[in-house]
Amino acid sequence: MAPQRTQSPASPSKTISRRGLMLVLSSPSGAGKTTISRRLLDRDGDLAMSVSVTTRPMRPGEVPGVDYHFIDLELFDRMVEAGELLEYARVFGNCYGTPRGAVEDALASGRDVLFDIDWQGTQQLAQNARDDLVSVFVLPPSGEELERRLHSRAQDSAEVIANRMAKASDEISHWAEYDYVIVNHDVEESVAAVEAILRAERLRRRRQVGLPRFVQTVQAAL
Ligand code: 5GP
Repeated sequence: MAPQRTQSPASPSKTISRRGLMLVLSSPSGAGKTTISRRLLDRDGDLAMSVSVTTRPMRPGEVPGVDYHFIDLELFDRMVEAGELLEYARVFGNCYGTPRGAVEDALASGRDVLFDIDWQGTQQLAQNARDDLVSVFVLPPSGEELERRLHSRAQDSAEVIANRMAKASDEISHWAEYDYVIVNHDVEESVAAVEAILRAERLRRRRQVGLPRFVQTVQAAL
């Protein structure tokens, strides 16, 4: 006769689900934010990128629907009117915004969403969704290094680079509004730092939706 197995009941701790969080990475152009974002997304299956809408022209190598949803100003204005954007801003003379639906669905299903948005968008998220927001500012190792990185980007014209240098100091002036600040000396170290932030923030009490019920089951057995 086959030995009988005692079936252990499903662990009550499995009923603790988690609300997703919004992880914002901001920095001046050239500080390494895009590289950090790509590595985080490659390594973390629970993290999804928020794909913004923008009215700026597509750059060589960009993929519609992956890097941005490229739209015209008329559609952008309609989305603003209809309340379809979670936040929006004008950056370098173009309009950018975060479509609301995809983000809200991800959060409700316990997935985390990564945002590459500027300080204006971060301020709006802080006003509208503070509990879900974790914001990280990425600083370059020095001003000289930032300038060198901006010049080594082949994609942009000298005028665009000059414009971004001017904007960099404006963006950096908002560093103190962020929850965490990372100086990007080394990409791997910076990615590890953001992963540590994510790990801790995922464990915040308010994000663990079924926790009170689980604690009751623990106490009931005592
Ligand atoms: P780029 O044109 O180089 O892709 O982005 C320019 C700036 O716009 C970056 O600082 C980027 O973080 C910001 N940005 C991109 N998408 C959004 C968005 O949806 N909202 C806001 N507020 N800023 C964005």
